[in-house]
Amino acid sequence: MADATAASTTPQPKPWISEIHAYVPGKSSGADGRPLVKLSANENPLGCSPAALAARAQAMEPALYPDPDSTDLRRALGTLHGIDPARIVCGTGSGELLTVAASAFAGPGDEVLYVRYGFSLYDIAVRRCGATAVVAPDHDYGTDVDVLLGCVTERTRVVFVANPNNPTGSYMSRADLARLHAGLPGSVLLVLDQAYAEYVDPADDDGSLELAAAHGNVLVTRTFSKAYGLAGERVGWGTGAPELVEVLNRLRGPFNVNNTAQASALAAVSDQDFVAHSRAHNRVERTRFVERLTALGNHGLRPLPSEANFVLVLFEGGLTAEVAYNGLAAAGTIVRWLPGQGLPHGLRITIGTREQMDAIADVLVAMVEAAK
Ligand SMILES: *Cc1c(COP(=O)(O)O)cnc(C)c1O
Repeated sequence: MADATAASTTPQPKPWISEIHAYVPGKSSGADGRPLVKLSANENPLGCSPAALAARAQAMEPALYPDPDSTDLRRALGTLHGIDPARIVCGTGSGELLTVAASAFAGPGDEVLYVRYGFSLYDIAVRRCGATAVVAPDHDYGTDVDVLLGCVTERTRVVFVANPNNPTGSYMSRADLARLHAGLPGSVLLVLDQAYAEYVDPADDDGSLELAAAHGNVLVTRTFSKAYGLAGERVGWGTGAPELVEVLNRLRGPFNVNNTAQASALAAVSDQDFVAHSRAHNRVERTRFVERLTALGNHGLRPLPSEANFVLVLFEGGLTAEVAYNGLAAAGTIVRWLPGQGLPHGLRITIGTREQMDAIADVLVAMVEAAK
């Protein structure tokens, strides 16, 4: 058989790499380049802890390599969450850990499972390692444990679950997660992506960390990008059995968390008041925003229940998501329209400051009235 690679005059990526659609980040400016209020990437509108900012300014000089093992940060995370630091691995954002988890356990011929309307990075992580993505149907934009389990085959190697989920905001209960885990063979890695965990009321904890502590096939990932307000520093972490952590350590970048990232994240861990404040702010403003849209009555706007720092609003009436997206941009705010993720009828709106949410609700209400 002719070898297409040898015959080609330029280097050819592997066929499964050619099929990757590059990650589409939330935009920060309009079509004309004008900067807009950015409610498109689930960043923290309150910024980050002042302690993190101060520590960042004092971080180790850039001429020196960072601690390759993020030792102090792992110790602090271990203390905060009651986890042995040997069971913690840090990443260049949790995205690095999600990606290496897929490539460690899946390859060509293997299946990786996640629910429809899941985090777009999973698709990239799966394709990178040449595995096959299996997308389970949703249940009214949420995750149905039985449907997910029904998609498991003997080729399944990894299951990704974001809880709360992005972009829907839906949340699985502790009982559902435990049931999902119990239904999976021990050979399948369950990745519980808790990027938004700090926004959930601690009373509603989903038990992810306990599952990771008790079982060898559970990896929990968390991030400093959301409630901690350090998205630009690129730092996340994961926890699971020491054997699992050891595998990820072999695959991650050797100096993957840089000096300022380690310093600012370490200080951020020590400022749990900031995290609690962010959670409280988010809850209040998310509730106000959703109530404003709900008060409109039956005009086709359906905000889905969310436990995260964003709301997915479905446009099921006269006003379309595309028109609303353009109207909001014209009024100075960029949100996330997701036609590429099968949601041409949805806008994912990050919960910003009170002023930002009032402004955006005003614009949406006016557009709904105009579309009547
Ligand atoms: C934002 C987000 C992350 C975080 O990615 P980082 O690489 O840590 O910035 C992970 N998972 C989901 C579902 C997210 O929405």
